[in-house]
Amino acid sequence: MTITPPIRLGLVGIGKIARDQHLPAIAGDDRFTLAATASRHATLDDIPGHGDIAAMIAGGHDLDAVSLCTPPNGRFEQAVAAIDAGLHVMIEKPPEATVSAVVKLAERARARGVVLFATWHSREAAAVDRARDWLAGKAIRAVRIDWKEDIRRWHPGQEWILEAGGFGVFDPGINALSIATRILPDGLRLEAATMEVPEGRASPLRAELAMKSGTAPATATFDFLQTGPQTWTIAVDTDAGTLELSMGGSILTLPGGEPEKAPDREYPRLYARFAELIAAGESDVDVRPLQLVADAFLVAERRTGPRFEFQEYAAGR
Ligand code: NAP
Repeated sequence: MTITPPIRLGLVGIGKIARDQHLPAIAGDDRFTLAATASRHATLDDIPGHGDIAAMIAGGHDLDAVSLCTPPNGRFEQAVAAIDAGLHVMIEKPPEATVSAVVKLAERARARGVVLFATWHSREAAAVDRARDWLAGKAIRAVRIDWKEDIRRWHPGQEWILEAGGFGVFDPGINALSIATRILPDGLRLEAATMEVPEGRASPLRAELAMKSGTAPATATFDFLQTGPQTWTIAVDTDAGTLELSMGGSILTLPGGEPEKAPDREYPRLYARFAELIAAGESDVDVRPLQLVADAFLVAERRTGPRFEFQEYAAGR
């Protein structure tokens, strides 16, 4: 199906990431026009709004595509509604709460002839492609991932994130796994995991993973209670020295070199890629980061940690 630009887009789930990143990226890309929204509580000025995706699809907006920014658990039904209506679908990370749901969505999109783009925004960070190119052909000796951030600062009041299917600290941690599976020539294989789930909650605030990249050991430490400086770092020891990707993949330090930083273009790049995929009629669905998280939940030794309640974030005031 050929679309006459701009692509008429429906945005689903008007929350933090939709406002912080999707709306500016859509506004800055003339291949898209925001035609409608679906959110239970939120609406946008001057854009037709609906309470759910079914009403948005039935709303006569002549949509070509939807972008899902709701929490992962429950996106399956939203994506199915869009695919069955013949719409192309872009999904925030992690694409769904289960691997089987994503596999089913990919099959359904293929059968219906629409594009499914399961995004991994961190793979679009400025230094990720350079890191992958530098690592190609090197012998990997060890990998260390440290992903430590404050849930109260980045996910204020998001109770869903600690519910079953909310991923807990794997919500940010899967960003590290999405980068690592992109840049490491041999990918990652999970061997063991521990996780700490606060009393009365279903998803962890802390996790440690033991993995292998080829034969090299790879560890990941995920912490959702990090106050002060935040850490999103991947270090890779190779036969040519240590590569470090920091600040979520935006800064690259090569052996003996100075840190290299480029401007953040993650979400503009995601929408550019969505437009390219639609033009080419191709889907992009890579479940490897989600598989690693699912494997961690399969094998993890679990500890119960202290109770956790969201409080107003007070730092910097
Ligand atoms: P959020 O602020 O909670 O926004 C999600 C929105 O989805 C809510 O405002 C809500 O709007 C709607 N929604 C629909 N069903 C819901 C349900 N069952 N529970 C809660 N909300 C529901 O979350 P977010 O931070 O934008 O995260 C959404 C997705 O983006 C997640 O997959 C996350 O991993 C990803 N992401 C987040 C960040 C970040 O920094 N926060 C960064 C990158 C990616 P209505 O109440 O109006 O329906």
